Amino acid sequence: MRTDPSSAAGTRLKKIALSGVRVFDGRRLSGQRTVVIDGAVIGTDPAGAEVIDAKGAVLLPGLIDAHIHLDGPGNLEQLRSFGVTTALDMATWQPHLVEQLRNQAGTTDIRSAMIPVLGDVDADAVPGVAPDLVREAIVRSPGEADGAVGWRVARGADYIKLMIGSSGPGGAGGQDQPTADALVVAAHAHGKKVIAHALTADAYRMAVHAGVDVLAHVPLDQVLTPADVQLIVAGGQVCVPTLTMMQGVAALGESSVFETATRNVAALYRAGVPIVAGTDANALPGVPVHLDHGQCLHDELELLVGAGLSTTDALRAATDLSARSFGLTDRGSVRPGLRADLLLIDGDPTAGIRATRTIRRVWCAGAGDEPGWG
Ligand SMILES: [Zn+2]
Repeated sequence: MRTDPSSAAGTRLKKIALSGVRVFDGRRLSGQRTVVIDGAVIGTDPAGAEVIDAKGAVLLPGLIDAHIHLDGPGNLEQLRSFGVTTALDMATWQPHLVEQLRNQAGTTDIRSAMIPVLGDVDADAVPGVAPDLVREAIVRSPGEADGAVGWRVARGADYIKLMIGSSGPGGAGGQDQPTADALVVAAHAHGKKVIAHALTADAYRMAVHAGVDVLAHVPLDQVLTPADVQLIVAGGQVCVPTLTMMQGVAALGESSVFETATRNVAALYRAGVPIVAGTDANALPGVPVHLDHGQCLHDELELLVGAGLSTTDALRAATDLSARSFGLTDRGSVRPGLRADLLLIDGDPTAGIRATRTIRRVWCAGAGDEPGWG
């Protein structure tokens, strides 16, 4: 069931003027000004608004987590309470859960890849998933690509998620190069972006060769060569490193893999590859590291700064740049006409990124509430 968030919440949305607030508009921090929240969108005219004195506070666009996995109905409220007003599900085995959680007024807005595209895997080997659904996820040859993409799009996929290389669920292998190439062509023909899970330098090369749009994770096995980095620059890919997850993986065994991950982020960032914030928040059976929705995006911002991003670029990674990278044209910035997805905090996050945790209030399309934290 789909509802229009603005009309569904319309009866209780107010007109609010935040006065004296400093604004990170998705690009830079301004001096004090007034921002009007007019129903579900950011407005211009403060006439008749309830005025909130926000001197000393900073207003950010609501944060976007560009890599989560939905696992239950509680996810949205948890994301919202931490200022994450948009979350991009990077594959789920519960398509009905996505249907249930879409377009909910007053809370976090989601997008989803629906089920992933897997290489060959034993359909009985993915824990907790019906073998029939796993079989639907498997794509073995270029000839199967168009049907697989069409199946997902017909069920509401907003983008297509490929597993490149090994380490998919149940030990699934990835596609071979011709199959990955065909999947990207098919997805683009359907007007959908392609996100590739890739954890090794080889998987990165394959994904870039196939022409995917977004590289999820970052190589853990080796530091990318300058030639690799230049291919990514030329290919126009965006990278969502998920350093929070990489740190969790490193904690299970070899701690050196996290250093490799951060060096790769630094090299990509220095070369101008857009770095977007995503966490891999999940509580999925079979995934060795579970991360709490919402809170871990603040950890991710801190790790991105640790890897060399400026505080401004870390904020952009979770707002303006993220929205642009995923074609979300109605959000990611603080500008009249955009969705009133907003986060009011106490400190200046350009001076210290941990200030994003000092949450005073969160609005999802104009529906404001007290945070669960801060
Ligand atoms: Zn993931």
